[in-house]
Amino acid sequence: MELRWDPIMSQWIIVSGKRGKRPLLPEGYCPFCPGSEEIPEGDWTVLSLPNKFPALQPEPPPPSVKSDRLYRSRPAKGVCEIIIYTPKHDATLADLSVKNIKAVIDLWTERFIELGSRDYIKYVFIFENKGRIIGVTLDHPHGQLYAFPFIPPIIQRELTSSRRYWRRTGNCLFCRVIEKERRDMTRIVCENEDFVCFLPFFAHWPYGVQIYPKRHVGALPELSEKEKTMFASILKKVLRKFDNLFEMSFPYMMVLHQRPTDGKGYPYYHFHVEFYPPYREKNKIKYFASVETGAGTVTFDYTPEMKAKELRESPET
Ligand SMILES: [Zn+2]
Ligand SMILES: [Zn+2]
Ligand SMILES: [Zn+2]
Repeated sequence: MELRWDPIMSQWIIVSGKRGKRPLLPEGYCPFCPGSEEIPEGDWTVLSLPNKFPALQPEPPPPSVKSDRLYRSRPAKGVCEIIIYTPKHDATLADLSVKNIKAVIDLWTERFIELGSRDYIKYVFIFENKGRIIGVTLDHPHGQLYAFPFIPPIIQRELTSSRRYWRRTGNCLFCRVIEKERRDMTRIVCENEDFVCFLPFFAHWPYGVQIYPKRHVGALPELSEKEKTMFASILKKVLRKFDNLFEMSFPYMMVLHQRPTDGKGYPYYHFHVEFYPPYREKNKIKYFASVETGAGTVTFDYTPEMKAKELRESPET
């Protein structure tokens, strides 16, 4: 287990020789239900647990290969955790009350602060993979987090663009995008007092909506209590819209993009949530195939305006 540097793409790869051999769970057994050996006894609403098969560890073993000048390796030091959203096995995030979703957001915030304060953690990445189609084998509603010892490349790219824009204009690039989307209206999915959800002008995925706080904040700890409730409320609405439009429990990847936790200042960064749902229509999968994967160029076979309209019109209850 180690990090290996790809000198061609300039990025770290997490190599874990043993994770590929994760055991299959017995049919009908859920390790995240109350009463299982992983779960502490007593009442709880939300819970964070160490990932039993972590890709990153606080005390990692030495790399399995020697590091040299071309082929660099380093210990896979970091933290992987599971975030359980509710004790109810058959629920989804969309089914939970706003109060319960707010409790999930509070736990995300707490884990961001605790892990981000460790000197070896440069970035806390919170996410959810939902649905068998994404490769999730456990149905119990849960998300995860990876606390990285480096800033991952997609975040790095957003930081580079937003830093450049900030230096050139004195403005936050994300605030300008929000302003523009709210003026154009055609790609807005829904909004409330403190948050807005839209499919950006430059969306990558057919249903790749993004959620932004209207106020310029870089990470969860800067949100007020009321803003966190508004965040929970819009999250629930967006998820309900997905489920209603597709008449199923809609699968997705959901990621939180926050500022890094390496102790440096990122006044130009603006917290947001991104979704990457694997569908392009009912029963039609969106593949990230050769052009997307090999050339890094997105082909969008509709217009974001069309897809935003579908979601805007989809019921949110
Ligand atoms: Zn369960
Ligand atoms: Zn901003
Ligand atoms: Zn982002």
